Amino acid sequence: MADVELIRSLLRPHPDFPKKGIVFLDIFPIMRDPVAFEVLITHLVHHITSSATVAPVSSGAKKVDVVVGLDARGFLLGPIIALRLGASFVPVRKKGRLPGECVTATYEKEYGTDSFDVQVDAIVPGNKVIVIDDLIATGGSAKAAGELVKQLGGHILEYVFIVGLSFLKGHEQLDAPVYSMIEID
Ligand code: 5GP
Repeated sequence: MADVELIRSLLRPHPDFPKKGIVFLDIFPIMRDPVAFEVLITHLVHHITSSATVAPVSSGAKKVDVVVGLDARGFLLGPIIALRLGASFVPVRKKGRLPGECVTATYEKEYGTDSFDVQVDAIVPGNKVIVIDDLIATGGSAKAAGELVKQLGGHILEYVFIVGLSFLKGHEQLDAPVYSMIEID
């Protein structure tokens, strides 16, 4: 597909970032190009609205209530996609940065752990939720975000990413369908 190939061509590998041995894939060249950024958003929104998981053929009901974006690059994609879907946007932030009552989930990083917060009134039981981030690696952060959604009674329709590092098998950590526009084996 031409749109997938365009987006793939704009991913920039940065060897030894943020530390030696890691090849970091930078997504910002996509956002520097307004045509490519539009192609990306249109592709993801089309996937969400045409997916059998998200929009069962028989369903006349509202399909997505909430788009949850992960700190930090999920914040750049989530609000735009939420607006296109007519859904709410809800941020999952690193612990301690959101005001008011929050629920917290902890996840493994390469060294040690980190925690995410979400505001308790951001999702109500029964809400249908899409979780979005730029990239899934080990799946630890997406899994923690999913746990927060479930703690608040939300139902995850799908996890959506621009890039999936399939060789790390992060999707196996998640108990809802996973879509990555670009799979890296
Ligand atoms: P995971 O929790 O799946 O191991 O790591 C995914 C998280 O780390 C995402 O929030 C993603 O933004 C970030 N991340 C890890 N590696 C990369 C990378 O190579 N490129 C980008 N853009 N993000 C990365």
